[in-house]
Amino acid sequence: MNRGMRIGTGFDFHPFQEGRNLVLGGVGIPHPRGLKGHSDADALSHAVADALLGAAALKDIGSYFPDTDPRYRAMSSLLILEKVYRLIRGKGFAIVNIDATVIAEEPPIAPHVEAIKVNLARTLHLRPDEIGIKATTMEGCGPVGRREGLAVQAVVLLIKEE
Ligand code: MG
Repeated sequence: MNRGMRIGTGFDFHPFQEGRNLVLGGVGIPHPRGLKGHSDADALSHAVADALLGAAALKDIGSYFPDTDPRYRAMSSLLILEKVYRLIRGKGFAIVNIDATVIAEEPPIAPHVEAIKVNLARTLHLRPDEIGIKATTMEGCGPVGRREGLAVQAVVLLIKEE
């Protein structure tokens, strides 16, 4: 057993809102609606950030980047990921891999997966093949199924460096 291995999970949901850009993993995705939120509402980056923080036994994303703080208004969530990366490096952790699932009825995510991997890899000092990005739908059920919003689930593995 490798006692230096640490797993973390993250989850985020944002409702769709007219007149906003849809951003996932720092990639602008053409769509009639974006996500409602304080920053750029990049639910994928938020879920990955929370998974990284959780694996390092740090606090949740809202503790470090409160949505009451005007500094984070409309900010790129890749900057949040950069700061989270520095936090976990400061605790002596390196990222082994990341896996995330976008849960949405719309839009199709597959055409944007490679661009998302490249963005996240650059931000988190990984290779694109160390990042999994998948998509699924809720088959018409629940708030995601009714196209009210989009959810993302993420899992990360960290390793403690000596
Ligand atoms: Mg969020």
